[in-house]
Amino acid sequence: MSAFLKLLFRNRLAAMGAVVLGAILLLVLVTPLLPLPDPNVTDTSQRFLRPFEAAGHLLGTDHLGRDLLARLLYGTRLSLAVGFAAAVIAAFFGSAIGIVAGYFGRRTDNIIMRGVDMLMAFPYILLALAIVAALGPGLLNALIAVAAVNIPFFARNIRGITVGLAAREFVDAAKLSGKGHLRIILTEVLPNVLPVIVIAMSTTVGWMILETAGLSFLGLGSQPPVADLGSMLGEARAALITAPHTSVVPGLMIFLIVMSINLLGDGVRDALDPRLKSGALSRPRSMTRVDRKGPVREAAQKGLLDLQALETQFHVGARVYRAVGGVDLHVKKGECLGIIGESGSGKSVTALSVMGLVASPPGVITAGAVRYDGHDLLSSGYREMRQRRGENVAYIFQDPLATLHPLYKVEDQLAEAIQSHHRVSDGEARERSLELLRAVRIPNPESRLKNYPHEMSGGMRQRVGIAMALANDPDVIIADEPTTALDVTVQAQILALLDDLRRERGLAIVFITHDFGVVAQLCDRVAVMYAGRIVEEGPTKAVLDAPAHPYTKRLIACVPELGGGQRELAAIPGLPPSVDDLPPGCAFAPRCHKARDACAQGEIPLDGTPPRAVRCLYPEEAV
Ligand code: ADP
Ligand code: MG
Repeated sequence: MSAFLKLLFRNRLAAMGAVVLGAILLLVLVTPLLPLPDPNVTDTSQRFLRPFEAAGHLLGTDHLGRDLLARLLYGTRLSLAVGFAAAVIAAFFGSAIGIVAGYFGRRTDNIIMRGVDMLMAFPYILLALAIVAALGPGLLNALIAVAAVNIPFFARNIRGITVGLAAREFVDAAKLSGKGHLRIILTEVLPNVLPVIVIAMSTTVGWMILETAGLSFLGLGSQPPVADLGSMLGEARAALITAPHTSVVPGLMIFLIVMSINLLGDGVRDALDPRLKSGALSRPRSMTRVDRKGPVREAAQKGLLDLQALETQFHVGARVYRAVGGVDLHVKKGECLGIIGESGSGKSVTALSVMGLVASPPGVITAGAVRYDGHDLLSSGYREMRQRRGENVAYIFQDPLATLHPLYKVEDQLAEAIQSHHRVSDGEARERSLELLRAVRIPNPESRLKNYPHEMSGGMRQRVGIAMALANDPDVIIADEPTTALDVTVQAQILALLDDLRRERGLAIVFITHDFGVVAQLCDRVAVMYAGRIVEEGPTKAVLDAPAHPYTKRLIACVPELGGGQRELAAIPGLPPSVDDLPPGCAFAPRCHKARDACAQGEIPLDGTPPRAVRCLYPEEAV
């Protein structure tokens, strides 16, 4: 709750709305206690007094000499009460109708929603007028009319959400566990739609207050002598020119109320929406922000893709997360480089930094360079970067279901990947898509083109992901744990496929994983990452046979061996450090059995005779 309020009040406009609305609410709550004249007592000798003209009538008087301040406050009380009551009633009945229709679906849904459609077929205000005309004028009837006209709005919104929820697995699970419909609706569906109901309410209350005021203005709402804001406006209409203050006073109040409720409502909606919440209400830019202090070091190009002292940080409030703290890596044409490390060691952020794909804010690249064929990618603009994404460097991500768009056929998605880089006709794009599916060895590629992602298995989807990465013949592919979500046999097929592609096309592959077995199968060289830095690097076989860094050694010891006899699997004690609070010196020292005092003092360089290197003062093996 406090997190919600914090998020809400970070939005200045919403905070302002809350303050104004709070002040108005407070004022109308204490109105009966204030020393005000009776709002309904007339005194025609005191007609149309201007504001501040006479003592005792702060805001002046109306055409019957009634005190405007008193009428305003009592009128606001009434308007607010009616508006809120109408919102609650409309939300209650509308949501109930929507949930029932969405949950039961089919005939029920059809009958209910057609009824709702009929209500919606009438112009809004005409319907309200018709209802009041049928029930007779009066504030209560106006309330009923306003609530009734708004029921379809809630019913439609909530039905749409419920339809999606009712098909979800947790509802099926509840049904299978023997729960009745009413219990499922109350315990499974309702909690999920509640935030939406609250949001819809907060954004419509202002609207309903206006509608009630409208009905009262026409004389169909509150009846004289009792005032609400609408009827005050209606009565002041005749004197609009001669005594404008009688209209301005209630008009201003309506403006303040509706404005503050709408601002607050928008804020509530933003703060309650989980998607907006995680992004702290900010949209990421199309490219990671690059803010390099000092000049970019010139270094000899070692490979096709060359990361040089790359630093990527996340700036969240006052905290700085050093996710990538000075990484040097390179990969040559036709080579496969493995990056290995525990979860959270900065592998993905390193990979995403290459093409400026780290979400920004909060991500910032603070130092280093990413050179592609000698050209510093980080100093290029968005247009150039966009051209290079997919064309020079392509990605394969961990979760193929999240990579593919659920509503488009595979064919369309592949074609889009091609056509966003090359001007080719739809027919050619289709031809090429087919070729790509063949290249990643998908059986029956012709019919698979017509599939939606949900019609394919996990392995198949990942192949489509690979096909998409290949779509524009990139020279480098960065694969971020592409097989973690797959079972072992499919994993083996995918690895073999990547290896073939590398040989056939001379692709350079950067393969990110936390599995040494996979590295051994696929990679020529491997870099071990810990807390955002490379701690060891070298040819795969050399590193596996004789790990130099204590961390690498213990990581390898964690891998079980088939037929390797009985061996105790050694877990590494402790946890990786948090990257917003790294210890000085070696980040692994607190978990290392060989650590001495010197390890916790000052920078430790990445040293050794190429191609091997290790960042350790007391390595297991000299390299
Ligand atoms: P992995 O090696 O598992 O791929 P990541 O590269 O995803 O790890 O994350 C590296 C570090 O960056 C982690 O410690 C993570 O907490 C931090 N991090 C990632 N994204 C954000 C973010 N948006 N805000 C703050 N910290 C982040
Ligand atoms: Mg990752």
